[in-house]
Amino acid sequence: MNNIEISQIATLPTKYGTFKIQAFKEDDKEHLAIFTENLDEIETPIVRVHSECLTGDAIGSVKCDCGEQLAFAQELIGKEGGMIIYHRQEGRNIGLLNKVNAYALQDKGFDTVEANHQLGFKADERTYEVVEFILKYFGIKELKLLTNNPRKIESLGDIKIVERLPIQITPNPYNEDYLRVKKDQMGHLL
Ligand SMILES: [Zn+2]
Repeated sequence: MNNIEISQIATLPTKYGTFKIQAFKEDDKEHLAIFTENLDEIETPIVRVHSECLTGDAIGSVKCDCGEQLAFAQELIGKEGGMIIYHRQEGRNIGLLNKVNAYALQDKGFDTVEANHQLGFKADERTYEVVEFILKYFGIKELKLLTNNPRKIESLGDIKIVERLPIQITPNPYNEDYLRVKKDQMGHLL
């Protein structure tokens, strides 16, 4: 990949333990690798590719399960070692403004897939080239992928996914329909 600017490595203490962070700037998108200090020593690290969700990750939205998935990943990886790639493709890569418009359609009764279609997008617009780039940059050749989304498993090129580890989230009254649509229409394994 061209035009990737890479930061220094910094230490980031969090409530889930102390991580190292490194930023990868791809045009106007700035992604983050969040990893444990022992990453180099782990043959098959646990990796979570987390898609940015500002509403779920930062302001406690319970409309989706992103915030809980991120917390689950940080807690597990903090303990077991590995890496979280914080992938800045907000709203399955339709951006924040379109996501809010999709939410407004959902307020009117459309589900998450229908709302995206109404706005002229596919249900999922994400791409994973930069994820592959970051994994290769760290010399990761095989990993255990923490995900409920089988599409992520197909899309990491020649990096070997040895195992898929599920994230189990308890649905709440606000996201149970959303989780059901992800399972029934988008092939998520729950
Ligand atoms: Zn979300």
